[in-house]
Amino acid sequence: MRSIIIAGNWKMNKTIGESISMVKELKTLVRDIGDRAILVCPPATALSSVGAELKGSNISLGAQNMHFEENGAFTGEISAGMLKEIGVEYVILGHSERRHVFEEDDSLINKKVKTAISSGLKPILCVGETLEERENGRMEDVVSTQLSDGLGGIEDIKNLVIAYEPVWAIGTGKTATPSQAEEVHVLIRKVLGAIFDDEISEGISILYGGSVKPGNIKELISQDNIDGVLVGGASLDAKSFSEIVKC
Ligand code: PEP
Repeated sequence: MRSIIIAGNWKMNKTIGESISMVKELKTLVRDIGDRAILVCPPATALSSVGAELKGSNISLGAQNMHFEENGAFTGEISAGMLKEIGVEYVILGHSERRHVFEEDDSLINKKVKTAISSGLKPILCVGETLEERENGRMEDVVSTQLSDGLGGIEDIKNLVIAYEPVWAIGTGKTATPSQAEEVHVLIRKVLGAIFDDEISEGISILYGGSVKPGNIKELISQDNIDGVLVGGASLDAKSFSEIVKC
């Protein structure tokens, strides 16, 4: 049985005050949900306060990024240990905005995934092709390489989560159709089977991300290999995120 995970990525949105009032409302709206993992990933400045507000609730705390080193001269960066100290459980790694805006490559992302796992965090490794790559018939190649390079040298995968986020669907309002998404999730499971083995691959939750909303969640989540979602825009509002959580 794979865990169903509904994750909200707030990106660079919300002050501490806004974050607290959002999670106060969200806690009430989803307090009866017990069959899935719910998590919010606020900006770094709000992590600690949101973590305190979430104590004792059924909502977990996630970070949007981290550095792979334990400490040192890395101005502006945050380590896995620092995240753990304030109660962070999950960390999003290799998000397409990190890859494309901040030029993170698979080798850097691989170091981060290794550190996250060895530190006891649950990494959500994001993969996905651009529109140009899809139109040039390179989707399979791009996604497979992001997985094999991003997961190179990793043996302990018990906390690993994968998110398939086609770049052309992130923040654009264009969602992959449920069958388009399922097709790539099946491919991802096959690649994970080749990297690890089929039994391990069957146990890894693969989330879909890209313009998920209350109106399209049901069809997406009903696919066999879609084990949850990573939500950007629609996770900023407690009511719309709670409707996705309750799908
Ligand atoms: C994301 O940021 O991971 C994402 C999927 O964003 P959106 O839901 O806004 O497309």
